[in-house]
Amino acid sequence: MTEHDSLHPYRIRTDYLSSDEIVFYHFLLLNFSDEYIIFSKVALSDLFYVIKPNENVKFAQKLLKKNIDFLLLSKEEMTPLLAIELDDPKQEVHQTNQKLVDEVCDDAKLPLLHMVVSGEYHQEEIKKVLSIAPARLEKNRDGEDEYSPVCPNCGITMVLRFDKAGPIKGGKYYGCLNYPECIEKISVNTLN
Ligand SMILES: [Zn+2]
Repeated sequence: MTEHDSLHPYRIRTDYLSSDEIVFYHFLLLNFSDEYIIFSKVALSDLFYVIKPNENVKFAQKLLKKNIDFLLLSKEEMTPLLAIELDDPKQEVHQTNQKLVDEVCDDAKLPLLHMVVSGEYHQEEIKKVLSIAPARLEKNRDGEDEYSPVCPNCGITMVLRFDKAGPIKGGKYYGCLNYPECIEKISVNTLN
C-alpha cells in the first residue's frame, strides 16, 4: 500500500477567502503593504494567551474557537498592531463569536476595527487607529506578568502541573490542556 492509497479525508479549500474578503485584502495590499505586514484568518489562539492559565482554562479554550479576519503587523518585529473584522451586513453575524473577538481584543488592548463590506473602502479610518496602536499596546505590556508555553502538538495554552510521582516528584512542568489525549510536557526550567 502506497501513501496515496490511504484513506485520509483532507482536501484543499478553493474558497479560502470569500470574494468580499479578497476585494478588501487587495485594498489593504494597495494602501498598507509598504508599511505593514498583512495577514488574514489568524487564530485567536495564535495571537493571544491567557494569564494564570491554571485558573483560566475556560478562557484559554475560548481562544480556539475563532479567527480574526485581518491583522496588520509591524514589518520589523512583526508586532500585531491592528485587527480588522470584515462584517457582512447581509449575513447574520454569529453574535457569540463576534462578542468573543471584541472582548479578547479589548482586554488585550489590541485595536480592533469593524469594517462593513462595501464597494469602496477608505484608508483614513484605518490610518487613524494605526497611529495610536503602538502606544496602546505598550500600556498592555506593563501589566505582563505570567507566560505559559503553547503545546507543540495542539497549539493551545499549557498549564502548570506538579509531578505526583516518579523521579522528579513535586517538580513543576507545563502540561497540555488536552491531557490525557496529549501527553506533551515542557519542563519549567527549560523556559528560563
Ligand atoms: Zn497538546
